[in-house]
Formats: sequence, C-alpha cells, structure tokens
Amino acid sequence: MEVEDKLYHIQQLLKSNKKEAIIYVRTRRSAVETSSHLNSLGIKSDFFHGGIPANEKTKKLEAWKNGTSPTIVATSAFGMGIDLATVAHVIHIQLPESLESYFQEAGRAGRDGNRATATILYNPYDKQLVTKQFIASLADVDLLKFIYKKLNNYLQISYGEGVFTTHGFNFEDFCKTYSLNTLQVFNGLNTLDRLGVLQLSKEFGRTSKLKFLVDTNTALAFFKHDGLAAVIGKTILRLYGGVFETMTGVNLEVLQTKTSQSQPVIIQTLKKLEAANIIELYLNTTDAAITFLTPREDDKTINVIAREVVSHNDKKKQQVQQLLNYVENNNTCRSVQLVTYFGETTASSCGICSVCSSKKETFSKKELLKISKIILLELESGPKTSREILEKIDQREVLVLKTITLLLGNKTISLDQRNRYSKI
Ligand SMILES: [Zn+2]
Repeated sequence: MEVEDKLYHIQQLLKSNKKEAIIYVRTRRSAVETSSHLNSLGIKSDFFHGGIPANEKTKKLEAWKNGTSPTIVATSAFGMGIDLATVAHVIHIQLPESLESYFQEAGRAGRDGNRATATILYNPYDKQLVTKQFIASLADVDLLKFIYKKLNNYLQISYGEGVFTTHGFNFEDFCKTYSLNTLQVFNGLNTLDRLGVLQLSKEFGRTSKLKFLVDTNTALAFFKHDGLAAVIGKTILRLYGGVFETMTGVNLEVLQTKTSQSQPVIIQTLKKLEAANIIELYLNTTDAAITFLTPREDDKTINVIAREVVSHNDKKKQQVQQLLNYVENNNTCRSVQLVTYFGETTASSCGICSVCSSKKETFSKKELLKISKIILLELESGPKTSREILEKIDQREVLVLKTITLLLGNKTISLDQRNRYSKI
C-alpha cells in the first residue's frame, strides 16, 4: 500500500486487534526507532534484531508471546524458530529485498487459520531506495575490473604475482584514494570473494560498535568536564539513534569528518569513555585482510568470472523488479500474484487480501447517505483533511474515503490546496 504516513497506518491496522503483530524493518536502527515511536503513540511494542544478546532475545520473545508486548518491530533476524500460530498482522514498513523473503516473512501471519493481514507500507521514496541499495550498488564487470586493478596497485602487487599472499587493507582509505563509492566497492570485493579471486578475512565489513551504559543526564554531566568527550560523545548521540539501547555500529571516518578530530584522538577519547564506564566499546580499526587466490592478471582475471557476475547482477535486478511489480499491481489478488510467481498457474482469488476486498466492496445507498451526513456534520466546524475526518468518526476507512469521493463528485464538498475538505 503506497502511503505517506506509515505510523498512522500502523495505528489503523493495529487498533482493532490486540493479538500479536510483527513489523518488519530492514535495519537495526529503524527497529529501535520505530518501536520507540510506537510506544510514544501508545502502541506497546518492543524491538528485536540480530545484535541483541541471546538472553535478552528470549525475554523479548516471551513478552511478545504472552501478550505483555504484543507488537514487535524486527529485522529479518526475527523469524527463525518463531512458531507462534496466532500472529494477526505482519507489516513491512520498508520494502523487502525480494518476493522470496517477503513470502517467508508474510507467511508468519495467521497460521492458526484465523483472519490475518500481511501488509507492505511504502512511499515513493522507498521505491527509489531499494533501487539504489540493491541495483545501483551492484558492481558490473567494468567496475570490477577497475576495482581489481586499483586494489593491486594499492597493495603494490605486480602483474603475474600476488597469489596466496595476504595483505592488511584499510577499506575507507582505499575508497577515498580512488574516489570510489563505498557500497559498490563493498559489493565488488564480496563478489571477488564469492567467485574465488580473493578471500576476505571474516571481520570485513564489521565496524566499531558501542553502546551507552548510562542515561543521557549522566553522560552530559560527564561531558561537562571533558571538552573532547563532549564533542565526540554529542556527535555520536546526534548521529546514531538507539545507541542507549543496543550496541550500535559507528563509523570512525564519519566521526572524524563531523568532529574535525583525528582518528587517534577519537579512539583515545572512546577508550576514555569506556574506562569511565560511560560506554561499552568494541573497537575495530584493522578493517580486513585480503588473501589473493589467483595471480594478478588485471582484465584477464575478471574476464574469467564475467559471465557469472552478469548473471548474478541480472538476477538481483530481476528480484527487485518483481517485488516492485508486486507492490504496484493493485488489480490481481495478492495471493494469486505470489503463487504465480512461485510457479503455480491455477490459483483462484483468495477473497480476503486488500485487492480482493477492495473489489468486493460495494456499499448500499443508505450506508453512503448515512456517512455523508456524518461527514458534512463534521465539516460544519471548519475544513478538515481526510485523516482528520477519519479520526473524528469511527467508521471504516474505505467507506469514508468512498463517500468523500462521491461528495466531491457531486460538488457538495470541495478540496483546498492544503488537502482539506469544506462544505460548499
Ligand atoms: Zn486476494
């Protein structure tokens, strides 16, 4: 469903139902932030992601299952071993990477056979974002050739050499030296690793992490006596949401730029905060080691794997396109679309998905007339947006929106530039 205000729609979806709901997001940070927003709106929720210690995970799961905290905001890490049959809502508020992963996650709703909903809430920006994250960040063959050659130059490996040698490697510095896009280089190096050109050490891609162990006031009090800690600490608080709740990845290069302090100074200051028990710190400055599995032969090395790179990239692009087709297709039953995607050809409409219900929905004249009266009464007190009307009157959204359209059509009400309706 394309919407402007996701939180509002989550509220609408959850208000009538006190049963378990899972809200899927794509990053740990959004899990923490969304959960805190929902709590401030009075929707009791907790967050869940791969970075949470096992014993805390168990506690969160228990609270979710026994109804203490029926809504959980989670990354895809939430799902393994979740066998609860009574999940009433699965809501994605960021577009998933593929229909496969969506199908798996959405399939967690309604296993007990009761009516359940699976919804994707997205805005036009999300569509650009998946394209940017999953397609524009792919390294094509030409770019791989470029990255590979520069990598060899960077590590001073001569043509024909390098096989089975291991080199320490500073990722950020490499990208900066050749003005390369970090996401593309990250994906490119992983491709070279996957296809056996080189091997990346396990810690590649892991950043330094930290978490605040004290509350805001205690931290601010500490900062008062230490100028450097104040500059760096406040920058971290500003940049990284959730840093009080969970170990959060911080980028030392970004901190360097934002605080105008050198990396050694930043590291020293973080260690000082750690020693004072203000933060918990996991420092990772070595970045990665790269072991070459083939001798340097520039383009020739890449040509060997070119076909696999192309087909892998094509598959990724296709996956994203299929997902976008799915969310944009409002004519074919959602479940028919999914099973067709997975190869079934004889499926019949489910009758309960958003597409099916909107087709089935016909309202009686009497019903529409009743709602018209209520809406017009509401507009007596001044112009209102459709949202404000919906909040005032306790009626189903489809019905209210349909009535508004009719009233607009027969010129009983008008719409102004601020999207507010008034009586004519
Ligand atoms: Zn359907």
